Amino acid sequence: MSEDVSAYFGCMVFNDEEMRLRLPKDIYRQLKKTIAEGKDLDINIANGVAHAMKTWALENGATHYTHWFQPMTGITAEKHEAFINPAGGGRVIMEFSGKELIKGEPDASSFPSGGIRATFEARGYTAWDPTSYAFIKDETLCIPTAFCSFSGEVLDKKTPLLRSMEALSEEAVKILHLFGKTDVKRVITTVGAEQEYFLIDKKDYERRKDLIYTGRTLIGARSPKGQELEDHYFGALRTRVSAYMKDLDRQLWKLGIYAKTSHNEVAPCQHELAPVFTTTNVAVDQNQLTMELMKKVAEKHGFACLLHEKPFAGFNGSGKHNNWSLKSDTGINLLEPGESPQDNAQFLLFLVAVIKAVDEYQDLLRISVASAGNDHRLGGFEAPPAIISMFLGDELTEILEALASGSPVAGRGKMQMQLGVHVLPPVPKDTTDRNRTSPFAFTGNKFEFRMLGSSFSVADPNTTLNTIVAASLRDFYNELEGAKDFNLAVQELVRRTYKEHRRIVFNGNNYAPEWIREAEKRGLLNLQSSPDAYDTFLLQKNIDLFGSFKIFNSVEMHARYEILNEEYSKTVHIEAVTLVDMVNKQIRPAVDRYMTELSSSVASRKAVIPQLECRSALERISKLSVLTDELADRTDRLDELVHQASAYQGSELAHFSQRSLISQMQSVREVCDSLELIVDEKIWPYPTYGQMLFYV
Ligand code: ADP
Ligand code: MG
Repeated sequence: MSEDVSAYFGCMVFNDEEMRLRLPKDIYRQLKKTIAEGKDLDINIANGVAHAMKTWALENGATHYTHWFQPMTGITAEKHEAFINPAGGGRVIMEFSGKELIKGEPDASSFPSGGIRATFEARGYTAWDPTSYAFIKDETLCIPTAFCSFSGEVLDKKTPLLRSMEALSEEAVKILHLFGKTDVKRVITTVGAEQEYFLIDKKDYERRKDLIYTGRTLIGARSPKGQELEDHYFGALRTRVSAYMKDLDRQLWKLGIYAKTSHNEVAPCQHELAPVFTTTNVAVDQNQLTMELMKKVAEKHGFACLLHEKPFAGFNGSGKHNNWSLKSDTGINLLEPGESPQDNAQFLLFLVAVIKAVDEYQDLLRISVASAGNDHRLGGFEAPPAIISMFLGDELTEILEALASGSPVAGRGKMQMQLGVHVLPPVPKDTTDRNRTSPFAFTGNKFEFRMLGSSFSVADPNTTLNTIVAASLRDFYNELEGAKDFNLAVQELVRRTYKEHRRIVFNGNNYAPEWIREAEKRGLLNLQSSPDAYDTFLLQKNIDLFGSFKIFNSVEMHARYEILNEEYSKTVHIEAVTLVDMVNKQIRPAVDRYMTELSSSVASRKAVIPQLECRSALERISKLSVLTDELADRTDRLDELVHQASAYQGSELAHFSQRSLISQMQSVREVCDSLELIVDEKIWPYPTYGQMLFYV
C-alpha cells in the first residue's frame, strides 16, 4: 500500500494553512498584507501570531522555542528558551508573546562579527522573518530570524539577502511598469538548490581524525579502482542508501520541504538531492535544514554524511547548483522567453541585465563561492573553472549577435528584428542545457549558477546575484524612463549592453586549456584562490554597489572582508595541525611498528637458516626507513610553517596559508600516500579510500 504523503506533508510547519485556520481573520489579513508588501511587523499582529503559534507548537509537542538564525559562519544557530513561566503556587504557565516573537536577544558574542560588535555593542538582536514559516524540530519551535547588532549593523546572512530581494524587486517593478505591466507590485527571486553529498560508513568516519576535524581526507592513496568506469552515475541505489534517502525525504516533507529528486552522482558513494524551487529566502532556510537533516538522518542509518567540497582527492567533489529566476507577483517568470513581441523585448532586456551584471561583477560572484574547501574544486577537472563566464546556448547567442550587428535574425528571412514589434524565433528549451561545464548557464527559463560549494549557505551567492542584477536594472530604468520611442530605446539598450558585455558569454568547453588563454585575451578575471578573490571585495565599485542599495555599508563590508579571510585561514590552520597530529601520533608509530615486525621476522628467519638473504623484507625496511625520515622532515617543516603563520594576520595570513601551508600539506601527503601503499593494511591506522568508497 502506498503511503499518503499529503497526510503529513508540512505537519511540522506553521504554514499559511495553519495561520489561516488559527489566526483571527483581521490578524491573518494584516499579516498577509505585511508579508506581501515586505513591511515590518506591527506588535499587535505579532501578539496574535505569537499566541496562535504557541498553541500550535504545544499541540505538536514543542516545549521550547528558538530564534533560528544564520550567523556569518554559514551554518545555523539556535538558543533554546522554554515556554515556561512561573505562575505562582509553584505552578507553571506556557507563555510566548509578540515581543518575544519579533525580537529575541541572544548573547551571541562569540559569533564572528569582523570586529563590529567589539567597537559598537556587545549584543545583537534577532527579528522574525515573517516570509519564512516557523517550524518544529526536536520539540523546539524554530522561528526563522534575521540577526543585527544594536547599532543596526548586520551580523548574519539573512538580513542582506532580504534586503537584496527588496532591492531587486523595486528595480524590476519599475522596469515592468515601463512595459505597461502596472499591475505588478512585487518581483520575487526563486531558487532551487541541488545538493550533492557523500555517504560513507560511520565506523570508517570515526577512525579518521581528518574527516572528523576538517571534513575531508588529508591523506589517502588512490584505490585500485576509481571513478573511471563511471558506473555509479544514476546507478541503482544500494539498499542501505535507498532506505536512507526514503527516510530523509520523509523528514524533509514533514518540514514542508519539497524534496523531489534523489540519485547517485559520478563518484562512488556520492549522491544528489534536488528540491522544488521556492522563494529565495525560504530556499536558503530549507537548504540549511536539508543539510542539517542529511547529517542527522545519516547517523541513524550508520552513515556519515560528508558535505565538504572535496572529501576525497582524485574523485569528484561536491557542489551545489543554484537555479535562480525572477517571478512577478502576477505569476510571470521574467526569464522565460515570451510569445508576444512585447514579452520578447522584456525577456531580452532582463537577460542582458543579467549578462551585464555578471560581467561587471565577476569578482563578487567569484567571492560568493570562494572558500578553502571549494578551492579544491573550482579549477579542478570536474567543476567549473575559477573563471566566470555564461552559457546562453547557440540559438539565444545567435539572436543577440544578430541584434548587436543589425543583421537579420536567422529564421526571419531578410527582415531585421525590431524589438517590441516582431516576434522572436522560438528559443528551444531542451538544447540550452547541453553544456554542463559552464559556471553560469541559462537553462531555458532560469540561470543555473554551478560554482557553489556543497557546504555553502546559498544566502551569499543569491545576495550578490540579486544586488548586481538590481544594479543593471537601475541603470536601464534611468535610460528608458524618459525615452520618446520606448521600443526603439529598448532595442538600442539591448544591442549596446550585449555588445559591451558579450565577452562574458562562452558556449564552449570550460575545462579546455584553450579557454584559459581565450578568457585572458577577453580580459576576464581568473581569480585562482579564495584569498585572491577576497582581495577584490573592497574595490570602490563594490563598496558603492552594496552601499547604494543599503545592503552593506562600508563598515559591514570591511567586517565581512575580515571574516572571509579569517575563516579561510582558520580552516587551513586546522587542516595543517590535524595533519601534523596524524603523522606524529598515528602514522609514524604505525610505520615503526611495521618495521619492527618486519625486522623481527627477518631475525627469526635468520635464526633458523643463517644464510638466508631475506632480500625483499630488508628492501622493504630500508624503503620504509627512507620514507619515514622524509616524512619526519616534511612534517617538521609544516609544523614550522604553522608557527611562522602567527606572524601574519588578515589577508596576509590568508595568502600565507594558501601559498605555504597548503603546498606543504600536499608534500607531506605524498609521502604518507607512498607509505600507505607499502604498509600492511592491518597496521595502517586509517580505512583506505577503497574501504571507504567501495564497501558501503
Ligand atoms: P538538472 O540541473 O539536474 O538538470 P533541472 O534543470 O531540472 O535539473 O533543475 C532542477 C532544479 O531547478 C530544481 O531544483 C528546480 O526546482 C529548479 N528550478 C526550476 N525552475 C526554476 C525557477 N523558475 N527558479 C528557480 N529554480 C528553478
Ligand atoms: Mg543542475
